[in-house]
This record gives sequence, structure tokens and C-alpha cells, in this order.
Amino acid sequence: MKMRAVPGARLAHLPQVQRMDPAVRRDIEVVSSILPFKVNNYVLDELIDWDRAPHDPIYRLTFPDRAMLPEAVFGEVAELIDREAPRAELRGAVHRARSQLNPHPGDQLQANVPQAGTESLLGLQHKYRETVLVFPGQGQTCHAYCGYCFRWAQFIGVAELKQAVPGPETALAYLAGHHEVSDVLFTGGDPMIMSTDRLRGYLAPLLEPRFAHIRNIRVGTKALSYWPYRFTTDDDAADLLRLLEQATAAGRHVAVMAHFSHVRELETAACREAIRRIRDTGAVIRAQAPLVRHVNDDPAVWAEMWRTMTSLGVAPYYMFVERDTGASQYFELPLHRAMAIYREALSSVSGLERTARGPVMSASPGKVVVDGTARVAGQDVFCLRFLQARDPRWVGRPFFAKHDEHAVWFDDLKPAFDEPWFWQSDPPRQGS
Ligand SMILES: *Cc1c(COP(=O)(O)O)cnc(C)c1O
Ligand code: SF4
Repeated sequence: MKMRAVPGARLAHLPQVQRMDPAVRRDIEVVSSILPFKVNNYVLDELIDWDRAPHDPIYRLTFPDRAMLPEAVFGEVAELIDREAPRAELRGAVHRARSQLNPHPGDQLQANVPQAGTESLLGLQHKYRETVLVFPGQGQTCHAYCGYCFRWAQFIGVAELKQAVPGPETALAYLAGHHEVSDVLFTGGDPMIMSTDRLRGYLAPLLEPRFAHIRNIRVGTKALSYWPYRFTTDDDAADLLRLLEQATAAGRHVAVMAHFSHVRELETAACREAIRRIRDTGAVIRAQAPLVRHVNDDPAVWAEMWRTMTSLGVAPYYMFVERDTGASQYFELPLHRAMAIYREALSSVSGLERTARGPVMSASPGKVVVDGTARVAGQDVFCLRFLQARDPRWVGRPFFAKHDEHAVWFDDLKPAFDEPWFWQSDPPRQGS
């Protein structure tokens, strides 16, 4: 199977879209001039159920919708497109629209960049003691795009791509000198977009004895959802599987950190074959995704996803809270609602299928899970806990925020009982 990618600008011309309401086609044109979109023949032919579009969950995941933009922003750009305004004018409006959509949430990419002397090692991120993230320069795109992607700005050049390493050398040199690091996570974009040869350049050296401290090698990818042929019929698919096998044979735990947004993605023959082949290498597949409106805001969808994953040998890992960027107003859910969906899904599956932690926010002090709501000393509160933290001493410590039915993200929360957050009176340790 050969991949044919369809960029945002061509979506409105797809035959499947031509059959839809003309108003939908215009909305697609306007929204895709501002936010990045990309699908491919697998997504179009095997994932989306066109009889149900635009209400189909995979269509919602990958196609533009008018409600992804604030009404005023949509209106301004639509007017320019309708009257075929001069290019420069349109470009200006698009630029303004993008900058209103919080393109750099929490500046996660700039934060946590390690230093070597006075030099910043751009393309690496070392936030939690035991884990280093590597952003390979050639892996900063994906086989298709998710409408909720928090890296959207880099796909359209608003965020510069400088937060990626040009090759393996920087990452390897850093890791060789940091024996506290046990986990390396290759991320993107999607590192599986790279050729196997390129990926081998990053992975194979980690199997040498000088990297014995790197016990776990993770690769974050949505290829099982957007292009499972990467592991089956692509020219270098067999080579890729051999590379994973070589890593497990060298004693490393290899985790394919898969991103599954909906149970549909697990149902195709291609995906199932890809999962089988990856598991045959000894690598483990763990799954994570954000909980988002229009796609998977239904406990039955998560329950079915966790059951299906478990029966296919994929371990549920995280349920994330959608980040406050890009089309977030379209996808976001109040935290109390996210928590209710998580609990209802959890309670309807077996213990083995309950391994996803969530709902989790990747916030600046750490990964915060919402454990529930409670009434403490006469106040309604959210019960929160760090699963990961800048300072390992914070991990596992329960803390409380004022209950707020409108809160959708960590920054919306206020500490309960009019005290500061506990870590504000316990500053992080310096160094490492
Ligand atoms: C989630 C995350 C990790 C990995 O955390 P685990 O709990 O080990 O999965 C590492 N670094 C960053 C910046 C993260 O957001
Ligand atoms: S697969 Fe990940 S990086 Fe790629 S578009 Fe989706 S959320 Fe963004």
C-alpha cells in the first residue's frame, strides 16, 4: 500500500467532501487556511465512515470544523476568502488568527531544555529525572494530523522547528553523561515517519554497553492509527521490526507508545496485523490519548477501547486532558466531566483493563492526575496528585484545588483552603 497524503488545502476538493453540504466545504476551506490538517488514503478509505460524516469520530478527529475557531476569527477570514481578497491581506488575517490560538502552550518546548556548559541542547527535554525526550529533526511531522494537536503551530511554521536535534549525536552525548536517566522517549511529530535507517541511527547506539543505564526505550507514535502499513508492507517495515527485535534482544525494554483516540482505529485488519508484528519483536505497546469532545467523550468508547486493547496485547497507559491551544475550544471538556467519563469507563471494565491513569494534565510543575472530587472541611474540592513532578519528592502527594465546574485545565484551578500550592513553599532542588 502506497501512502498518498492530502494536505489541508486539498481537503475541500476530495470527492467524499464534494458530496457533502456546500456550507461544510466552505467551512473546511476557511478553517484549514488557519490550522494545519493532513489526512491520507488509509484514514480516508479505512477509518472514516463517510455515511456518518461529519458526525463520524475519525472525521471529527482529522477534518476542519467551523466551531474550531472563535466566531469572529472565522468571520474575518471567511469574508476575505469569499471576496478573494489580495494574498497579503489574507496572510495578515491568518497570522493574526493563529496568534490568538495560544500557539505556544506553556512553552513546553523551550522549558526543560538541558544545558551543556553555556549551550542549550535544543531538541532534548529533561524535565523528570529518569526520562529524556528526544525530538529527531526528521520526525517532526505525522502520517496525518489530529485536530487537537498541541504541536500544531510547528506544522505550519509558527513555532520554529529549532526544538529538534539534527541527528543522534547531541542526544547520545548527553545520555552518555547522565546515568540517572533510565528512559529515553523519542517523540515528535511522529518518529515512525522516519526511514528505518534513520531511526536505527538513534536507537542502535543505545544498545551499546556504555548505555547500560538506559533500560527503557520508548517511541511515541500514531502510526498504528494513521499508517499501520509502516509495520507491515512499507519497503523498510521488515527492517524496522528487526531493529525493535535487536533492541529487545539487547535487554532493553522497548515500548511503542501508541496514540489511539477511538476504538475504530484498533479495528482494521492492517492495524491488527501491525500490532501482532510489533509484539512478535518482544516490544510492548502502551496506549495513550487525550479525552476530547466530538471524538471520544463517551465512557463507552473508552471502555471498549481498553477492552479491545487488552485483548490485542496493548496496555492502556494514560488518558490525557486536552491542552489549551489551537482548536481547544472545540475539543475541551470541563475537568469534572473528564473525571466522570474516566470513572464510568473504568468501572465497566475488568481490573486488567484498568491500567490507564487519568485524567492527566501535563502541566508545568508535573503530570497532575484528577483523582476525584470531595467535600473537605466544608469545601468542595478536586483531589489531585502528581504522577510525575519536576521534583521527585512531590510525586504521589495528594493535594486539593477549589472545585470549579468551568475549569478545563490546570491553570484554571486555585488551591483550596486559601493556601499556596504545597510546592510553592517547597521550591525544587537545584541542579541534576
Ligand atoms: C509524560 C512525560 C514523560 C514520561 O513520564 P512517564 O510518567 O514516565 O510516562 C517524560 N517527560 C515529559 C516532559 C512528559 O510529559
Ligand atoms: S499524532 Fe501526535 S504529534 Fe501528530 S498530529 Fe496527532 S497529536 Fe499531533
